[in-house]
Amino acid sequence: MGSCLCGQSASTGKVIFTSAMDASHEVNYEGIGAHGHYCVPVKVEGRVIGVINLYVEEGHERTALEEDFLVSAANTLSGIIERKRMEEKLEYMANNDALTGLPNRVLFFDRLGHEIKSSTRYGYMLGVLYIDIDNFKLINDTMGHDAGDRLIKSIADRLLKSIRESDTVSRMSGDEFTVILSNVSNVNQIEIVSNKLLTALKEPYDVNGQAHTLTASIGISVFPSDSSSAGELLKHADTAMSHAKNAGKDICMLFNPEMDETLNKRIALEKELRLAIERDELVVHYQPQIDISTGRIIGAEALVRWQHPQKGLLYPDKFITIAEDTGLIIPLGEQVLYKSCKQNIAWQNEGLPPIIVAVNVSTTQISWNYDLADMVFDVLDKTKMPPGYLELEITESFCMQNVDSTVSMLHRFNARGIQVAIDDFGTGYSSLSYLKHLPFKKLKVDRSFVNEITRNQDDLTIVKTIIDMSHNLRLKVIAEGVETAEQLEILRALGCDEVQGYLFSKPVTAEKFAALLKDEGG
Ligand code: C2E
Ligand code: MG
Ligand code: MG
Repeated sequence: MGSCLCGQSASTGKVIFTSAMDASHEVNYEGIGAHGHYCVPVKVEGRVIGVINLYVEEGHERTALEEDFLVSAANTLSGIIERKRMEEKLEYMANNDALTGLPNRVLFFDRLGHEIKSSTRYGYMLGVLYIDIDNFKLINDTMGHDAGDRLIKSIADRLLKSIRESDTVSRMSGDEFTVILSNVSNVNQIEIVSNKLLTALKEPYDVNGQAHTLTASIGISVFPSDSSSAGELLKHADTAMSHAKNAGKDICMLFNPEMDETLNKRIALEKELRLAIERDELVVHYQPQIDISTGRIIGAEALVRWQHPQKGLLYPDKFITIAEDTGLIIPLGEQVLYKSCKQNIAWQNEGLPPIIVAVNVSTTQISWNYDLADMVFDVLDKTKMPPGYLELEITESFCMQNVDSTVSMLHRFNARGIQVAIDDFGTGYSSLSYLKHLPFKKLKVDRSFVNEITRNQDDLTIVKTIIDMSHNLRLKVIAEGVETAEQLEILRALGCDEVQGYLFSKPVTAEKFAALLKDEGG
């Protein structure tokens, strides 16, 4: 039996005509008598994917012409196959996201276009979901981009697993995904799927060996009621997503036309805020913090206001979120800190009793890849305020980002003698036993508990527990939002150290605050 000896040159990486002949080849084609063959391998991207055989009559002497023919046929063939594969690869790259393999924006629009056409024909509805992971930037900045990439892949997997095969999940950019829900018969169905996605995304992820949870905000637009244009459907879903973010995140929201107007107003406000920071339209008001046992003012919480040239005095609820979303919180936070420290020193220079100024720090101030501690130290140097007169109020969620950088920043503050207080305590989910590992001096009980303390037994118990446990951990407790004498008496009975609220004073201008301090002195 003759064995085929062709194709031996694969390892050289070149297509070489093989010298092997098989004089007694077993395949007998009709019309071909006793024969042999010789062959060349066909290689694609360095690998042999087949051979071209030239069958010859027995005894045939091969010619140089035949060899050339065979080699060029093999070369042409591998060229064609390579080009085809390259085209497929390029097409895949043009249509799919490299990290997750999901359809990208281009393919999303292509699919949405098709879905719109077929839904129009069959009278179905479509849901377009715009999904944005909440605070993803923080993960990237604090855990590194590799961890961020792995998380994005897990998110993509979960989205895919939570929808039907006929639906499309795409990755639009960074932490933004879209989903096309096809063949839908009512809006309720779309909302059910959206909520299912939110739930699926909330399951803990393993990031560098640590369990990490995250949330997302989803905006929904519906074909045909919101639009029948693919571009508009996406835009509307995106708008609804921004509204979901502003409404506190971790929810889904259906688009409605009024949202566009709100969004335009927001964009305008952002521009104005940028100018306001440059034009120094931000002012700081101060609210006294009182030692409950002596009744004396021991501190001032600095609260920012915007003296808007047309709209009058604007409160933080009108602009802090915009500042956080746009990064303007960085220059804003720095200005407030600078003004507050300068003011505190000015009061001391006036001979007023020295007090601590408490400045709010937003969680997003650390998420803009920015060294908060450097900024704080710099402001203290510039204003020459001793660090002991500064307290930073940070929220519970800030502390929950138990990443090394956050913890080391808190220690840096502590080492400099800057006090750190946890604001709005009780609204997050941190336990006191967890917080005891972090260098805090003070805990601020959220206004919502104080508000109900005289009416609601549960709130009373919570406040009592917070105060007792804090004292065990040698933390001071301040209650915010004290409005009535009754609330004050209960807090006093519970052993609360400090209070702040309208009962004593609303936040006031620096001049009025100086008058309050003067009254004390006299
Ligand atoms: P916060 O830090 O919890 O500040 C306390 C808020 O409660 C202030 O509202 C204050 O005016 C209000 N308040 C104080 N006492 C009472 C009371 O007895 N009853 C009631 N109903 N409210 C009381 P404001 O000034 O509107 O500030 C709201 C939030 O905006 C602050 O909450 C803080 O989170 C944020 N904020 C204010 N200034 C700044 C700032 O400079 N930087 C940052 N990042 N956030 C700021
Ligand atoms: Mg505060
Ligand atoms: Mg607060």
